[in-house]
Amino acid sequence: MAATDYKFEGWLGLDASAADGKMQWGEFEPKSWEETDVDIKITHCGVCGSDLHTLRSGWGPTNYPCCVGHEIVGHVVRVGSEVKHLKVGDRAGVGAQSESCVGRKGDCEACASGMENYCPKQHTGTYNGIYANGGKSYGGYATYNRVPARFAVKIPDNLPSAEAAPMLCGGVTTYAPLKFHGAGPGKTVGIIGLGGLGHFGVMWAKALGADKVVVVSRTSSKKEDALKMGADDFIATDEDEKWAKKHASTLDLIICTVSSTKMPIMDYLSLLRLDGTFVQVGAPEDGLPTIQQFPLIFKRLKITGSLIGSPNDIREMFQLAADKNVRSWIQEIPMKDANKALLDFEAGKPRYRFVLVSEPQGENGSVHGKL
Ligand code: NAP
Ligand code: ZN
Ligand code: ZN
Repeated sequence: MAATDYKFEGWLGLDASAADGKMQWGEFEPKSWEETDVDIKITHCGVCGSDLHTLRSGWGPTNYPCCVGHEIVGHVVRVGSEVKHLKVGDRAGVGAQSESCVGRKGDCEACASGMENYCPKQHTGTYNGIYANGGKSYGGYATYNRVPARFAVKIPDNLPSAEAAPMLCGGVTTYAPLKFHGAGPGKTVGIIGLGGLGHFGVMWAKALGADKVVVVSRTSSKKEDALKMGADDFIATDEDEKWAKKHASTLDLIICTVSSTKMPIMDYLSLLRLDGTFVQVGAPEDGLPTIQQFPLIFKRLKITGSLIGSPNDIREMFQLAADKNVRSWIQEIPMKDANKALLDFEAGKPRYRFVLVSEPQGENGSVHGKL
């Protein structure tokens, strides 16, 4: 099957001003085709905080033109002869990573043990990356995505595309560390920042059976939603000077999704009990604030990070979502309004993830609100 009579077009950032809602629609050249690839006709793409960091070159110079978006769902329209798990017409999703060293000479230790997301040799991001074959990666604010099939995951039949999309990055980025650090019975978990990542964090922690889940947010405006997501307690840091003292040494595990360099990190750490673990997943452009040593020393605290998830983590997360009926909180926005979506994202408006939706695309295409 080689239905190649389609154009790869999308919202392109041409310079750092793109993050101010100045992306331009245009054509791009996908990686050259390999028989391990699939092409996906995109129906949905979530808007992740990383899209904005990248568009404005916040983490270092971006390789413009850049089409962001790494929470991609659509229908497979072309399948390489070496691909076994997908066929034309399947719904497939792509998260933030599109290639690792797997399948190429000398799989690394991480890939060999199913942790492709930690591949030190060839971690190609779904956008702003370079594939082993030299091609550039372009993301999902677009018509089509070409991707090594290993990083395209089949979407379970019962999961609507619009809800699956944000799980592919925002979802798995909180699922993976919660699972890895043993969120479950006997554990009290804190989720800091109730945004795209954070809202999944609350729901996964509950689904994994944590005793108690506490949301740490700046104001109480998201409290009602947090409780509906399953949170047991809610802390509004800007509204109570004594919050850190009141809740000191109450949590076993924290997932921090905050991307501001000004975060009160020592107060966050004070919430941990002896031997508690602080996992930073938010990625501030100017780094973390200074960390004082004594609280770490006196409570034997651990500070760590976590990077997205592997294709298998994504499959496992989808299974948990199905088993425990975890539903993404999303707002669907037409793909044509992507620039406005960026501005609204920056203004903190998502409740809790924007998902860009392509126009209905005929027989195999998505229809708003349906699979
Ligand atoms: P988001 O939807 O904007 O959520 C971030 C939340 O942080 C906000 O909703 C807000 O929650 C809180 N926050 C606290 N202080 C803030 C401040 N000064 N300014 C703005 N927000 C503040 O973003 P996201 O898509 O979840 O992404 C969060 C971060 O994770 C980004 O840096 C992104 O690049 C990173 N990320 C990392 C990975 C990884 O693999 N580690 C993967 C994906 C994304 P409240 O309103 O509740 O305070
Ligand atoms: Zn590797
Ligand atoms: Zn992301």
